[in-house]
Amino acid sequence: MKTGILVIAEQLRGKLTDTTFEMLGIGREIATVLELPLHAVLLGKGSASLFSQLGAADSVFVLDGASLEMPTADAIAASITNLLNKKPATLILIPGTNIFLGVGPILSGRTEMPFVNFCKDLQIKDHAAILTCQLFGGKIFADIRLPENRGIVSIYPGSFSPEPGRSGRVPPVETIEVGREETKVTFKRFIEPEAGDVNITQQDVLVAVGRGIQSQDNLHLAEELATALGGAVCASRPVIDQGWLPLSRQVGKSGMIVKPKLYLALGISGAPEHTEGMKGAQLIISINTDPKAPIFNVSHYGVCQDVLEILPLLTEELKTQKVRG
Ligand SMILES: Cc1cc2nc3c(=O)[nH]c(=O)nc-3n(C[C@H](O)[C@H](O)[C@H](O)COP(=O)(O)OP(=O)(O)OC[C@H]3O[C@@H](n4cnc5c(N)ncnc54)[C@H](O)[C@@H]3O)c2cc1C
Repeated sequence: MKTGILVIAEQLRGKLTDTTFEMLGIGREIATVLELPLHAVLLGKGSASLFSQLGAADSVFVLDGASLEMPTADAIAASITNLLNKKPATLILIPGTNIFLGVGPILSGRTEMPFVNFCKDLQIKDHAAILTCQLFGGKIFADIRLPENRGIVSIYPGSFSPEPGRSGRVPPVETIEVGREETKVTFKRFIEPEAGDVNITQQDVLVAVGRGIQSQDNLHLAEELATALGGAVCASRPVIDQGWLPLSRQVGKSGMIVKPKLYLALGISGAPEHTEGMKGAQLIISINTDPKAPIFNVSHYGVCQDVLEILPLLTEELKTQKVRG
């Protein structure tokens, strides 16, 4: 039986995620070089209607059997293991997202395929897949070569462009019975972000505050600037931990990954756990009193100044410019 490359599609409330298209784009590239077929996998019959968006793949497998609409890691791993008995694959790409976090290790244990986590880049050199993985929150990048290009690879969200993975072509689809298996974990409920709060991942302009803002009483300075710029306020973890802003505003490793057009970092040192959530922004301007603050290494422009002094001046200037038209 001819083996292939599998991309495990991820959907949330009936919508395929960008990570799915990122995996399809890079998967298509590898499949072409290695001359292997590329298959997308949809979990559960309920998601079958999404197959027509997966035209970058040669074909789509819809897995039917277990309860897969909002599945747990062991239910997904069990279904993919059963699928592999019918449709063998050399390389399996899975999303490195919260929903799929536990899938890689379980699947690796079941199939005895090597598992590579936090993959940020994937290249083929001399017919060998070279994976670049981000470890220790970005402090180490490791290049990994998979023996015989065989393995499970968790793709870090935002590492590739989703555009090459989108296609208007309608792929052939096949429903595959993967059986039911008792799993130890059951899905209870999906916890939504606080109602009414802004979604910082959708904002073009973000004004981010760090510990340098010094007190909750100074937050209004950032809010006024955000209003003048037509954006929203977000923050580093210490600001959230103090309860000054809700968790939905946190940027970074344990918060949101944002890619706005403009990211203003105010009094943020630039720890790797923070920068991994914002360094994809189109334009980063940082203000910090410490000229050696690491945030300047990922910034396009830097201002060495006290944020408490510069913030009211910036807001005032923007308001004046608006009045002048
Ligand atoms: C597992 C793990 C997960 C984490 N996840 C996240 C995460 O998701 N997001 C996140 O942000 N962090 C996260 N962290 C924490 C991270 O390591 C840093 O501690 C945090 O990002 C530091 O926040 P900060 O830059 O606001 O504070 P600090 O590091 O204290 O920096 C404050 C900065 O403000 C500057 N400053 C002070 N006063 C002024 C002033 N008046 N004007 C201008 N500049 C001033 C200082 O020079 C300094 O550079 C995580 C840590 C761990 C271990």
